[in-house]
Amino acid sequence: MRSILFIIFIFSCLLVSPQIAERKNFPPGQSNFDIPVLAYHRFGDNRYRSTNTSLEVFEQHLRYLKDNQYTVLTFGEAMERWKNNTAFPAKTVIITIDDGYSSFHENGWPLLKKYGFAATIFIQTDLVGHKDFISWAQFAELQKAGIEIQNHSGSHDFFVDYNDAERAGKFRDDLIKSTALIEKNLGKKPEYYVYPYGEWTKDMVQVLKDNGYSAALVQNSGLFCETSDPFEIPRFPLGGYFGTFEELKRKIDLKALRIIKTIPDSPFLSENPPEIRVEVMPGKINLKKAQFFVAGTKCENIKIIDDPINPAVILKASGKLTARRTLYTITAPSIDGKTWHWYSYQWIRPEVGE
Ligand SMILES: [Zn+2]
Repeated sequence: MRSILFIIFIFSCLLVSPQIAERKNFPPGQSNFDIPVLAYHRFGDNRYRSTNTSLEVFEQHLRYLKDNQYTVLTFGEAMERWKNNTAFPAKTVIITIDDGYSSFHENGWPLLKKYGFAATIFIQTDLVGHKDFISWAQFAELQKAGIEIQNHSGSHDFFVDYNDAERAGKFRDDLIKSTALIEKNLGKKPEYYVYPYGEWTKDMVQVLKDNGYSAALVQNSGLFCETSDPFEIPRFPLGGYFGTFEELKRKIDLKALRIIKTIPDSPFLSENPPEIRVEVMPGKINLKKAQFFVAGTKCENIKIIDDPINPAVILKASGKLTARRTLYTITAPSIDGKTWHWYSYQWIRPEVGE
């Protein structure tokens, strides 16, 4: 019986892998990797507590990465490895910084230099050189020193708030303008994007592809792995409430919970609370011991389909979602119980103001 199950399992893997390959722009066949992408905004700027990381905590993070022999890649370096199917060092992380606040240039960058780490900064071009924002001359200085500079829009608009007819045009105009500004001022065309507020739609992904972008980052927590969708690469926030040393230690040893697909696959709700079916890669995790959260609070309204061929979970909040953005999170131990795997799905309700 066991051998039959094993054969069924192998066949099921052969059957699912083309589906995974279909989701990706990059060539299939990469060896497995699990890379935490860390997201920061402000450094040592107590005026904005929800996006700030204190300098003490940031240095603790960097020291931990150094002491534990992590390799820090820029986002572009990681994408090149992924595209070229080049293996990653066993312990790899990516440091990203959003928005381009002056506090990175003043406070964050000197610490990165002290530890010899690179980072990728995603900038909103409309505010370059404004009060509290890095100038083009400073970005040029950062770029020369090995900091990678990529795009985070011109206007930092809530693009999902536009109706379907308007959105692609608004997003395209903003993207073309911000891309050109970065290229003009820094001599390099950006190829990677962070969606403002982590909010995206399928038509925005298409506009990115049409304009030469090959990957984009969201705000769902999770790990970048070989089955990630290149236009939905997750990150762990490490500012505000999450700006602690313990949070880095909790997240950095996690693995990606690899999924085959979700139903639905759009972040917009067709009912409230929304139900999702998450189809999980078979043979990797112990679904019986999985834990489920809605906006960080434990969720019991779940159904586990612990099938060896097509494992899945069905998850639904017990009450209506009220926030603009809400995460459903699944975390489960590996079969051997040694590591925990993590996946989150972001719902967006554009009718709710920020
Ligand atoms: Zn931002």
